Amino acid sequence: MLIKEEFSIRFQIDYQCPQCGAPATLEETDRLFQCQYCRVKSYLQAKQFRYVLPSNAPEDKKLIYVPYWRFKGMRFSCLASRMEHQLVDISHKAVDDERFPISVGIRSQTLKLCFASPAIKGRFLSPALSFSKIIDIINKRFNASLPRPIAHQANIGDTLSIIYSPFYFDGRLVDAILNQPVTKKLPDDFDISVYTGNRLNWNVRFLPTLCPHCGWDLEGQRDSLVLGCENCKTVYKPDKNGFSKLTAVHITGEEENLRYLPFWRIKADISGISLNSYADLVREANLPKTVQPGMPDPAFHFWAPAFKVRPRFFIQLSQTMTVAQPAGKFLRGIPNSNLHPVNLSLKEGLESLKLTLSGMIKPRQKVISILPDIQITPKSFVLVYLPFVEKHHDWIQPWMNVAINKNMLAHAKNL
Ligand SMILES: [Zn+2]
Ligand SMILES: [Zn+2]
Repeated sequence: MLIKEEFSIRFQIDYQCPQCGAPATLEETDRLFQCQYCRVKSYLQAKQFRYVLPSNAPEDKKLIYVPYWRFKGMRFSCLASRMEHQLVDISHKAVDDERFPISVGIRSQTLKLCFASPAIKGRFLSPALSFSKIIDIINKRFNASLPRPIAHQANIGDTLSIIYSPFYFDGRLVDAILNQPVTKKLPDDFDISVYTGNRLNWNVRFLPTLCPHCGWDLEGQRDSLVLGCENCKTVYKPDKNGFSKLTAVHITGEEENLRYLPFWRIKADISGISLNSYADLVREANLPKTVQPGMPDPAFHFWAPAFKVRPRFFIQLSQTMTVAQPAGKFLRGIPNSNLHPVNLSLKEGLESLKLTLSGMIKPRQKVISILPDIQITPKSFVLVYLPFVEKHHDWIQPWMNVAINKNMLAHAKNL
C-alpha cells in the first residue's frame, strides 16, 4: 500500500541548462546541476530562492505576481514534560491584502515552477510581510493545540523561499493559473494600479564548479550545500563571490564500508548557566562520568547533524553527540571518499543549540524555568566528518554507540 506522507509537497522546477539550453526538471532542494546533454556542471546560488508559478491567462491580460513565503522544515517546541516536534510545510502570502488567497494552495503540488527572472513580464509585488511576521502566524496556528508553558520554539528548515503566483483583473481579481476569480466583482472605479510592483530584479546565479584554489572539479551531490575538492582535500561553500573555503576536519576510520557523516561543531557563549567545559557538562547533565584530576578539561561544544534526518532523530542525535563530546585525532581537511552530503546548513545547526541544551539539563523542571532567559551566542564552528560503519540496518559510530538507520537516512532527503 502506498502511504502518502503528510506535509510533504514536492515542487518541481522547470529549468533550462544555462550552457546549452536543454530542458531539465529540478527538485526544490537541488543545488548542483549537471546537464544530461552537454555534461556541464553548475551550482545554483541565491541568497533566497524565488520561483514563479506559470500563468495560463489570456494573452492580453496584464499580470501581477503576488509573493508567498514558502517554508518547509522541522518545528520544535520545548514543553514542560517533553519536546514536541512536527514537520511543517506551508506557504503564506507576503502581502497584507485580504483579496488574495492566503496560501499558494494545493495546486502547487501538480504544477511545475520556474525560477523567477527579469525576463518574465508582469508586475511583481514586493514582499511586504517579513518572514518573521509569518513565523508569528505559524506560531499562532500551530500552538493552539500545545499545552503551556512553552519554554522555547525553533523552526529548522531546509527550504525558505518566495513563490510568486500570477493574478489579473477582469472586473474581479482572477487567479491566472486556474483562470478563476478570487474576489467578487470589484467596484467599477477599482484601479489595479493600487498594486505597485515592478519587473523583477532577481536572477538565480550559476557558479562554475571549479575549485577556487586549484581549479579541480568540485564534487557533491545534487542537494549538497558545500562542495568538496578531492585535490585540496577541502570543502567550499557558495557565496555571492563564488566559492569560499570552509574549515573542515575529520577522524579517520579503520574499518571497511565506511561513510563519513558531517556535523557542525559549534562553540558558543552561554549566559545564565555555566557550561564552558566538559566538567561543567558532566555536572549540568548529571552524567555518570568523572573528570580526572590533572587532566586538561576540554572546552564544551555543541554538535548538530549537517544532514537531514527525521525531527525526532535530529534532536536525539544532537543531544547524544553533544553529551558524548566526540574527541580524538582530528585531521585537517576532508576524508578521501564516501562523504555524506551536507544538506542542512550551519544556520539551521545554530537554530538547534537551545533545543539541544534543553534536553541535557536535569532535572527538567529547571530547564522550563531558566531556558527562556538563557542566551546562546555562537562564537566559532567547524565542519567535522566522523566515520560510521555500515551494518545490516544501520550506520554505526562504534565509540559513541550511535546508530543511524540506513533506510531513514536514505529517505530523509525528501522530508
Ligand atoms: Zn547543457
Ligand atoms: Zn582544489
